[in-house]
Amino acid sequence: MSNNYPHPSDLITGSGKQFQNEHSADFSPALTGSVMTTKFDKLLGWARKYSLFQYPFVTACCGMEYMSVACSHYDLDRFGAAFPRFSPRQADVLWVVGTVSHKLAPLMKTIYDQMADPKWVVSFGACASCGGPYDNYATVQGIDTIIPVDIYIAGCPPRPEAVLDGVLKLQHMIQNSKHVWK
Ligand code: SF4
Repeated sequence: MSNNYPHPSDLITGSGKQFQNEHSADFSPALTGSVMTTKFDKLLGWARKYSLFQYPFVTACCGMEYMSVACSHYDLDRFGAAFPRFSPRQADVLWVVGTVSHKLAPLMKTIYDQMADPKWVVSFGACASCGGPYDNYATVQGIDTIIPVDIYIAGCPPRPEAVLDGVLKLQHMIQNSKHVWK
């Protein structure tokens, strides 16, 4: 697995020895090692990326891979991103997994609209991203023609490793987004 993503401890600076060296003149020695500084935006991004509640909109065969990623062998939960909620109002990541027909599309749009902000969308597999092998009148040729997509995961179906890579990329994106506090 790629190791290019920042560890949470990289995002919080000023603790311990570093804090003591750079700011020891400004703070009491009693605080050394027990104070850390960061930007609120970074803290919020860090908290949000490790508390993702997903809404699984699973329609077709990609669902088997989706389930395998959530099971113990790949253990999506270790990334803080596996907890499914079956109410859109309690979810912040919409996973569109599999083929979406034009008949189903309005339902997907309604679910997306019912999710509270901030929210993100993952397009899982070729069918969700571009219609996959179904180049016909019944199949939506990419869910991004209906709702905004943040992460595309390629494959028919995607390998679990590709799914985990997509999750890490989504978390990286959330960490570095501008967050609005309401
Ligand atoms: S991308 Fe392939 S595996 Fe996934 S739903 Fe479409 S046909 Fe099935």
